Amino acid sequence: MKIRYFDNSATTKVKKEVMDKMFPYFVESYGNPSSLYALGRIAKAGIEEARKQVANLINCDKNEIYFTSGGTESDNTALKGIMYLNKNKGKHLITTKIEHHAILNTCKTLEENGYKVTYLNVDKEGIIDLEELINAITKDTVLISVMFANNEIGSIEPIEKVGRIAKEKGIIFHTDAVQACGNVEIDVKKMNIDMLSLSGHKIGAPKGIGALYVNKTIEFKKLIDGGHQERDKRAGTENVAGMIGLGEACEIAKNNMEAHVHKLQKLRDFYFSEIQNEIPDIQINGSMEHRLSGNSNISFKGIDGNELLMKLDEKGICASAGSACSSGSGMPSHVLTAIGVTSEYAEGTLRVTFGDENTKEDVEYLVENLTQIVKEIRYGK
Ligand code: PLP
Repeated sequence: MKIRYFDNSATTKVKKEVMDKMFPYFVESYGNPSSLYALGRIAKAGIEEARKQVANLINCDKNEIYFTSGGTESDNTALKGIMYLNKNKGKHLITTKIEHHAILNTCKTLEENGYKVTYLNVDKEGIIDLEELINAITKDTVLISVMFANNEIGSIEPIEKVGRIAKEKGIIFHTDAVQACGNVEIDVKKMNIDMLSLSGHKIGAPKGIGALYVNKTIEFKKLIDGGHQERDKRAGTENVAGMIGLGEACEIAKNNMEAHVHKLQKLRDFYFSEIQNEIPDIQINGSMEHRLSGNSNISFKGIDGNELLMKLDEKGICASAGSACSSGSGMPSHVLTAIGVTSEYAEGTLRVTFGDENTKEDVEYLVENLTQIVKEIRYGK
């Protein structure tokens, strides 16, 4: 059976060009980048080239990029690295109720260690209120962390405005841009972003590689102790091929952004209009205006989301009940709760996230099967 993959926010297929660029670093230029002989120097040069490619995607200096193992480590490093270093200045940080668990559970650990966290509300579209942010700032506030775009409902936050507020108040601003990178134009200088997390496997690079951007004026405490890699900020022998792959994926994302966004938006809008025509009692979650081009999140009234997913799987369709990380927990997702989706809708939520490989024919197949399955579950036919 042909597999139709609609879960590109969970992870993406590694791009062929990325694989080709990585391959020699496994079998030819496999030296340790810390080694002084040529094989090591070639690996090191490859890493520095990749660092430049990552920096170009978000308009920062290459020496402001630190490679990590992914979005989760970048988020942990940003929050703990700033809060621990500045503990004598203040112990308060502001974030939102709809962050990924990489941020929320890091905040939980910080709270267990005596730090105070304010979780901003969002409106029914999943967007924060800037007045609430301003009012939450105290003399103890050291860090604001607001995600660029939400992984479940795709809502894009007013990041440039948050950056301006943080700058005016002299507070460090971090954004989790794991879902936004490669899908939205990001300029950390223009947007006054001090720190930014990104992840390779969301943009056609492998799993287990990511990066943290940190403005060069900002000090942070390292998370992992050991050798002197990554300018003494992230110990451990480098994932050379992963870094090369991430660099290449960032360059491809930068060069193809416009066409990529346009294509995904067209597929997504076609899907929305077809589902609205074919299936009654549905609700589209998230903002229609400020939304990732490839994201759709629809709740089907009176449907069990897991049953829906299993029946789609039988047809070769891969999608998600919400966030890959929270599905299976049996609880409505914290994001759907925060935007006020009622339980009769929330339990039947399907996230379909489009990618470069999807075609209109794939979407037609999805709509046809989804319509049939919803009918079967609702009316037994
Ligand atoms: N932040 C967001 C918004 C995400 O969507 C994800 C992954 O789904 C992460 C962080 C974690 O990234 P990684 O899987 O690279 O650890």
